[in-house]
This record gives sequence, C-alpha cells and structure tokens, in this order.
Amino acid sequence: MTNNFPDFITLLSQVNSILISGHINPDGDCTGTALACKQLFESIGKEVTVYSRDSYPYNFDFIKGYDAVSHELPQQDADLYIVVDAGAPHRVGDELLEHLQKTSSPIVLFDHHEISEQTQDFPYTLRYIDENAPATSVLIFRLAQEMGVEITTDFSVAVYAALLSDTGGFRYSKTTAESFRIAAELVDAGVSPWDVSSSMHNRIPLNAKRCTAEVMTDLQMRSDGKIGVIEIKIEQIERYGISPDLIDGIVNEVRSIDGVELAARFREEKSGVYKVSLRSIGRIDANAIALRFGGGGHKNAAGFTFEGSYDAGVAIIEEMFREQNK
Ligand code: 5GP
Ligand code: MN
Repeated sequence: MTNNFPDFITLLSQVNSILISGHINPDGDCTGTALACKQLFESIGKEVTVYSRDSYPYNFDFIKGYDAVSHELPQQDADLYIVVDAGAPHRVGDELLEHLQKTSSPIVLFDHHEISEQTQDFPYTLRYIDENAPATSVLIFRLAQEMGVEITTDFSVAVYAALLSDTGGFRYSKTTAESFRIAAELVDAGVSPWDVSSSMHNRIPLNAKRCTAEVMTDLQMRSDGKIGVIEIKIEQIERYGISPDLIDGIVNEVRSIDGVELAARFREEKSGVYKVSLRSIGRIDANAIALRFGGGGHKNAAGFTFEGSYDAGVAIIEEMFREQNK
C-alpha cells in the first residue's frame, strides 16, 4: 500500500480522459466521493465520466454532477480509471470489472474499507487506502488540498454529504477530531449543514415509512436479545411500490434497540437470494461474519449476498456471534 499523493498527481498530469466508479448499490459516500472527484478533475481540465452500474440514491440529487452519471460503460477506453469506496474489485459490477481486467490504462483505488484479499491481489497501479478514514470522501478532500486547487462550495458539499452519510451523522466509531476539523473546513467553504442534512434525511416517501413499520413488526430477537434479525420480502417491497434502498436503513433501527449487539437485515433480491446488511456494536466484528459469506465492509458495518433460506443464514450468523462472544 502506498500513501503518496505526488505519485497520483504525476499520473494525473499524464492523462486526459478519466472514468470514475464507485460500487454497486451505491451509498452516500460512494456517490459524494465520485462526484467530488468529477468536480476536482474537471477543474484541472480533464475529461471525466462518472460510471455507476446502479442509480445513485435519490436523496443525494443536490450534489453537482448527479444528473451526469452514466449507467453504461463508454465504448472508448479511458486514459485512467479511478475506483472509489469499493472494498473489493468486484464491487464495481461485472461489466466494469471485466473491462478493468483487460485495460492497459492505470487503475487507482481510493478506499477506507478493511483491506480484503481481493483488493490486495488486484493489480491496481496505485492504492490509497486509509482504514481509519470515516469516509472515502475525506481522502479526496486531502488530495484536493495537496493539489492546491480552490476548494469550491460545490466540491465541499459533495465531500460533506459523503462524510455525513458514512459517519451516520458524525456518530459512528471512525468519527474523530479530524472528522470535525474537516467538516469545519467544509462549512467554512460554504456548506450549509442543515441544507445538506435536510435534503438527505427529510424526504423519505410515506410508503417507505409504512413498509418499514410493517417489516419492524416481524422483528425477531435471538441470543437473549443480543441479536436482532429482520427479513424483507420482495412481495412487501412490491406491494408498497418502493425502491429497495429506501428500506435498507432499517438495519440501523434494529441496532438501536437496547441490548442489541448485532443487527442483521435480510432483503430478498430474488427467490432464495438475499442482500444482507450487518451492524454491530463495540467489539462484535460484523466484517468477520461478512467475510465468512464472501462479503466485507467495516468492523461495525458490513454486508454480503446470501444464497439459501433466511433461517439457515440467521443460524450461521448466530453461531458466529456466539463464537465471538466466547
Ligand atoms: P450496507 O450494509 O450499508 O450495504 O454496507 C455496509 C458496508 O459493507 C459498506 O461499507 C459496504 O461497502 C460494505 N458491503 C456491503 N455489502 C457488501 C458486499 O457484498 N461485499 C463487500 N465486500 N462489502 C460489502
Ligand atoms: Mn464508504
């Protein structure tokens, strides 16, 4: 792992076209970071395309560049590929991954996930990974400072929205004094904390709240109330007519219950296939559990895709929780 921005800045000076990608099922950090990169590299005259297999979350539409995201890979090879916030190479989606495996252009990673084997093995030209960073956007903020460019309000909004999102509103464990210092610099650069947080948080469709309430009713508690598990069925999402990402945050509601140390949300993607999100408290390692299923993430927030029955998945998670509690 290298942590040397001058190498990247030199590389940047040698290219014209850049393709930026975050990860599939994009979250606020990946959205804000990719759009911050776009603004940063365009400000020095580069031709930038932001690619995402899936749509960016609707409540980040206030970030500059949101509407310019391409969901199709351009035909032409870019001079440089930048991957942000993807804890494993395959998280960019199959199509881009295949392309990255073939291209001779440099590929650079900016990330803050716990370094996975797949990330280690992938032939990135440069890797900037700070596992302690509260959000990937912070790396791009540091880069912009090192490049000596003007820190604009639009750029600061993108960085701030990502930071606010990935720290759960400056609450999660990677929130440090530096996180607040960076936030203060972003506010100095013109960010309105209320405007950003209101745009992100106060626009939940009524049906998403109703669906959340229904799903919550069937919450199951395991291991003497230390584990909370919840299943969301395709039928429920369809009946309420909502986009699945609108209900994914329910896993945080489950973790917030008194006594819960591990929360697991199983969302059915198709019959027998679940997207699972884990949230933990303190020493319970959600990432270790996700790794067992081929996923990954952070110690207290991780995810994976599971093929099998809900009951079978829950049983394995409960067993791994008990192992960690020994
Ligand atoms: P979420 O539960 O919000 O989808 O994700 C929590 C964290 O785990 C995020 O940092 C996310 O990037 C990571 N994550 C979620 N699903 C997967 C997955 O299937 N594979 C890997 N490697 N990481 C994941
Ligand atoms: Mn992130």
